[in-house]
Amino acid sequence: MAENGAAAQAPRSIKMKFSCACGTEFTADIYQSVNVTLEPQLLYRLLAGSLNVATCPNCGRTAAAAQPFVYHDIARGLFAYVLPRAEVSTEERNAILSRLRTVYSCAAARRSTTCRSALSRRRRRCR
Ligand SMILES: [Zn+2]
Repeated sequence: MAENGAAAQAPRSIKMKFSCACGTEFTADIYQSVNVTLEPQLLYRLLAGSLNVATCPNCGRTAAAAQPFVYHDIARGLFAYVLPRAEVSTEERNAILSRLRTVYSCAAARRSTTCRSALSRRRRRCR
């Protein structure tokens, strides 16, 4: 498998302990720093709402960790500090996620067009 060196880089996550309602205690990887340029699969997990969500190995219940994390998207020039709220309902959470997906694709599309035109303008001026 030809990876671009991302696998060699340790993921910036911590092991967090969870106690499930069924009585099972387990640990899950919770991210404190997310770099989607190095680990594009994390963007997918974030937009799917499964990032920093622990699943109980015994009963399959899920618990979202209210762990703040730093978000980097070097390619799209995005940087954010994410503060999740634990008390958000599933309905509210899904609404936020769908809004995020829309905003994200718009921002990414607009950004790349702006960047391209700014770059070509600068190049023309230099000549
Ligand atoms: Zn459980």
